[in-house]
Amino acid sequence: MEKTQTIGGLEASGGRLGLLCRACSRFRYMNSRRYKPDEIVREIAKTLTCARCSSETVETFAVQRDEKTGFWPAEHG
Ligand SMILES: [Zn+2]
Repeated sequence: MEKTQTIGGLEASGGRLGLLCRACSRFRYMNSRRYKPDEIVREIAKTLTCARCSSETVETFAVQRDEKTGFWPAEHG
């Protein structure tokens, strides 16, 4: 995956913005429209903390539909 992927690139590829907490494994989708098209997907994590455990060890990344099932990975945690 490209480290420099932008929000604009994510939307163009049909992806959604995912947020994963490394501390408690909470996974949620974020509204990518809250961010500017030229913002780097990975950099957004630096501005966020986990809503459940308040950890700063969160990651933001592009999520795509499951190729086999056509479903989006489920939110959890
Ligand atoms: Zn957490």
